[in-house]
Parts: sequence; C-alpha cells; structure tokens
Amino acid sequence: MTYAIEASLTVALPIHGSDETFPVRRVYCIGRNYAAHAIEMGHDPDREDPFFFQKNADNLDPSGTFPYPPKSEDVHHEVELAVMLKSGGTNIPVDAALDHVFGYAASLDMTRRDLQGAQKKLGRPWEIGKAFERSAPVGPIYPAGEIGHLSEGAIKLTVNGDIRQEGDLNQMIWKVPEMISYLSDYFELAAGDVILSGTPAGVGPVARGDELVVDVEGLAPFSVEVV
Ligand code: MN
Repeated sequence: MTYAIEASLTVALPIHGSDETFPVRRVYCIGRNYAAHAIEMGHDPDREDPFFFQKNADNLDPSGTFPYPPKSEDVHHEVELAVMLKSGGTNIPVDAALDHVFGYAASLDMTRRDLQGAQKKLGRPWEIGKAFERSAPVGPIYPAGEIGHLSEGAIKLTVNGDIRQEGDLNQMIWKVPEMISYLSDYFELAAGDVILSGTPAGVGPVARGDELVVDVEGLAPFSVEVV
C-alpha cells in the first residue's frame, strides 16, 4: 500500500545521552496546576477536578529557538515539566501510573495570551491561543531509568538572566501519577504521549531577542531564544 499524498513525519525528540529518539503521539496539557498561578490568573486554587487541553505533536520543538508567532501582541512563557510516556492504557490506578513514564524534559507552554483570553470570554476553545506552530519548546528527554522520577525540586525560568518564574515540583495540585490516572479515565493513553504538567506563578510576556532558560532540578538547563 502507498499513501495517496505525502505522509507527515513522526515528530521525534532527542533523548539525553542516546542516539535514539522519542516518537510523539499526543500532547496533553493541564491548566492551573500550581496554586500561585491559579491565583494570578484570577481563579480559586482549591483542588477542583483538573482540566486539560491539547497541543499537537508537531508543536513540540527541540530546536532551542521560538519564532514569535503571528496574530498576537501578548505571547507569554509558561515553564513546565514535560512527562513522556512509554506505555499507556485506560483506567490506570494512581499507584501504577509511574510505571508508564519513560522520562522527563524541561519545556515551555508558550501562549498567545490575548487570543486565549478573548476565546475564554466567549466560552470558546483555546486552540488558537495554545496549539500554534512551535508553541512548545522542549529540551532533551532524561529517561526515568537514569534519573529516577521527579516529584520535587526547583522549577525556574529566567529571561535574559532575570528570574521570572520560580516554584517547586512538589507544589503541583495534581501530581504526575494523578494526572496520568485521571487522563486514562477519559482517554486511551499510549506510548509516545506527552503531558505538560502546568506552570508555577510568574507567567509574562516575551519579546524577540529574549533568552529564556528553563531550569528544572535534576535536568540540565534548556535555553530558548525568541526570534
Ligand atoms: Mn500551561
């Protein structure tokens, strides 16, 4: 069998210390997963049910450059820990969830905040604010088999050397195993799925020329230039 048109390539992300790459299937992103960020966005940080939106596999970009996207005057950084799955399923119990994790990476959930805000006001979906081209810069993946699982430790973003976002992974309202379990009740998770685990407080605008450095304790710093 041959395809009638050219098939798009599988997105493959680099793995630290390996010649192999990680093929991406789906990208799930949690909203408001650190209390201080929920408050800064005008929401109650109480533990209500989590909510997720999706980006596209080819929005993930390991290149280290972020082209300022069109149609926005207010593009924000959100520093996040990315979780890569090596297997999946449905109805995964919390205490078995980490068995499905392949590894972790530093990432950014770049957001056209003005477009997202306008969609929110209208009660419409957010894709144009979130799932645009190269909207998720992502650093090399560190296999859990080498570094263990990340449940605490500093998560930080500097812009041109100034600290803009700072938190601790232990401040997540919904922990990584809980997110995996919750998602698996609604979707069939599978190898290649990626979860962006939410951002601590301090989100703000970027400008062309900015140098963003994502620093998650346990991973090497990952630099992204806004171009
Ligand atoms: Mn986010």
